[in-house]
Amino acid sequence: MSKVYISLGSNLGDRQKNIEEAIKLISHQPLIKINKISPVYETEPVGFSEQGWFLNLAMELETTLLPQKLLAVLQEIEAKLSKKLERKWGPRTIDLDILLYADIILDLPDLQIPHKLMQTRAFVLIPLAQIAPNIKHPVLNKTIQELLRIKGFYEEVRKLKIMN
Ligand code: AMP
Repeated sequence: MSKVYISLGSNLGDRQKNIEEAIKLISHQPLIKINKISPVYETEPVGFSEQGWFLNLAMELETTLLPQKLLAVLQEIEAKLSKKLERKWGPRTIDLDILLYADIILDLPDLQIPHKLMQTRAFVLIPLAQIAPNIKHPVLNKTIQELLRIKGFYEEVRKLKIMN
């Protein structure tokens, strides 16, 4: 079993319901066990600003699925929940990203682990720090707590609203 951290985001339709559905579908996967779920944060969109605010959270999973197979399973869940054509950086019914997979480093055309942008995004680091403050980023060799501090995202913590 490998310990994996993923992020979930939604800013289209009934965001709370999309998140709940995604968690339900992940929990029904026979080879995935959900260990921890962070609080849900409401966050300002990055990219196109003409879109609604996101709900974001992070999860700790345990799985025997290898990284590419896990990505395929998560993409199937995204496809199941997505009703509209979605564009990069645009509105999302649900976005599922693999952030960290044990201490694996992967740089494939369709899959980079750790997620390439995770250290730049408050909406990823803030929820993740709630469930994994001391987990080390295997490339940057810093904990999630340290990455947050380096980015100065503590200022933004207050702007993000915890939904549950
Ligand atoms: P986006 O929906 O904008 O997050 O991008 C989805 C694309 O990113 C997919 O086609 C994936 O192949 C690719 N991708 C690369 N690395 C990752 C990762 N760590 N987690 C999820 N998707 C990834």
